[in-house]
Amino acid sequence: MSEPKRYIPLPIRVQLRKEAYFGCVECGNPILDYHHIIPWSEVRHNEPEHMLAVCPTHHREISKRPRNYAYDKKKNPFNASIGKFRGELVTDKARPSFIMGTNTFISTPNIFTYYTLPIIKYRIENDQSLLSVFIPDQHFWPEIEIVDNDIVANSSIFWDIEFSSNYLRFRKKEGETSLEIDLRGAAALVSGSLSIDGNRFRFSATKTNFGGAVIKNSTFENCGCGIGFGDNKYRLLRPNYAMRRPQRVMQRVKW
Ligand SMILES: [Zn+2]
Repeated sequence: MSEPKRYIPLPIRVQLRKEAYFGCVECGNPILDYHHIIPWSEVRHNEPEHMLAVCPTHHREISKRPRNYAYDKKKNPFNASIGKFRGELVTDKARPSFIMGTNTFISTPNIFTYYTLPIIKYRIENDQSLLSVFIPDQHFWPEIEIVDNDIVANSSIFWDIEFSSNYLRFRKKEGETSLEIDLRGAAALVSGSLSIDGNRFRFSATKTNFGGAVIKNSTFENCGCGIGFGDNKYRLLRPNYAMRRPQRVMQRVKW
């Protein structure tokens, strides 16, 4: 058998962040290091049962604590107690264009709406790109919700969440991307594959389909609304604590 490499293989990292519900075991921070509970200097290993996912700050701390403390944290990670993944998108500059699949949006804040319910919104304020996303489950409670770059997601339903401040990818199963947000290049990029109310929406570099409608290679500039799905006579209200289900209401006509 060959000697393990210091570089931790991807399947091990996926396993470690998944068992930690995609956050530091101590504080839930989504920026992760991978700690060897049995130190590398003692045994050269990448055995996940003797490793855990932890943020850089707590990495320094946890290595000074007894090993039993780390094994206990591994079994009871912070995000398991709250059931949520949390993070914040941070970018060094504003991206004037927003690309969803093969469609480009410029000065068009409402990128994608579903029965007038905003699903993806994008705006620039104080040279900051601000993204808001609402991905509902079948009862319209949020699976993923991003409000002006602040991310909250249901951590138990994802196979993997990759996060690095300006890059985010949610996957429900291996090889399929639910939602990918990339703020590293000149434009803000979003791709994904969603199901809302039984309607399928796919937007990637190769496939663009909005509930049966193919909208590709288009540029939307200075539009009030980019891509809208559903009859605009009706408005869809998200459920809240007072109402358990989403409601469709007649849209009030503005004169
Ligand atoms: Zn931490």
